[in-house]
Amino acid sequence: MAYKNRNESGELLILRILNRRMGLKAEEQKKYLNLEKGFKGETQFDELTENLQSQCIILNELLLEVNESKFQIDTTIIFQDAIYPFEVKNYDGDFIYKPDRLKKISGKDYKNPLDQLKRTQFLFSQLLQNLGYNIPIEGSVVFINPEFTLYEAPPNKPFVFPTQLNQLIKKLEKVPAKLTNRHFKLADKLVSLHQIESPYTRLPPYDYNQQKKGITCAKCNSFNVTFSTGARKVFCDICECEEGIESAILRNVEEIKLLFPDIKITTNLVYEWCSGVVAKKTIKKYLKKNYQSIGNKKYTYYI
Ligand SMILES: [Zn+2]
Repeated sequence: MAYKNRNESGELLILRILNRRMGLKAEEQKKYLNLEKGFKGETQFDELTENLQSQCIILNELLLEVNESKFQIDTTIIFQDAIYPFEVKNYDGDFIYKPDRLKKISGKDYKNPLDQLKRTQFLFSQLLQNLGYNIPIEGSVVFINPEFTLYEAPPNKPFVFPTQLNQLIKKLEKVPAKLTNRHFKLADKLVSLHQIESPYTRLPPYDYNQQKKGITCAKCNSFNVTFSTGARKVFCDICECEEGIESAILRNVEEIKLLFPDIKITTNLVYEWCSGVVAKKTIKKYLKKNYQSIGNKKYTYYI
């Protein structure tokens, strides 16, 4: 089991909501879909490392800083005598390896992820030294997508190709992993140093009125849902998923809070956001139950 879990970045969560509630321009949508794709690849790699039987510490997604340089590690695994950072790429299609880049056969050039890995390893080793740990770092770039091919890749580079993923897991099972308190102290330290970046600086402009109102399906994001007062459930007409009304209301409140961190959450606001399909008294009941109310009567808001 992972010692530190992976969550979607605030940026991805917000773009996901904006994409379905107001639509994104072509460039923004491309960026959004790339973030979705990257996150999907990373969670697929998590599913593989999750199965490791050896005693090791898995830290999913770290954003660290040393000497004013930030660096991100998709997956970090701490073993007895070494640390393995992994850079996970969810590229698909046919590429040609060039020392300074990866060239997609159908066009575009990509940065060579080995440069990124090199930088990560350099900064990570500095950080570990500052923390008093002298432990070897053995990084790799993992290509997780089964539809990825890299022609002309030199075999001595630290790449893990889709056909080598099982081998990688078998190899990791054999790495000596007798952990001591010192390893866990290091893991705790790294988790405490993990930074969460504010998403609000990198987003396209948006406002409340632009957002399409209504409850969306928790699973497929469709607006085609039916609310049944009797069953106290929201049913999706597209994927047939069902969700309890309390969970649906809270999910929508969290959407509003994420998009508009300064807005005051009131019963009327949530009622409008859900386009009036749920009764105000139901909304009020669950706001009261799950948040702290401030003010009274019609001036009440919830935090
Ligand atoms: Zn659905």
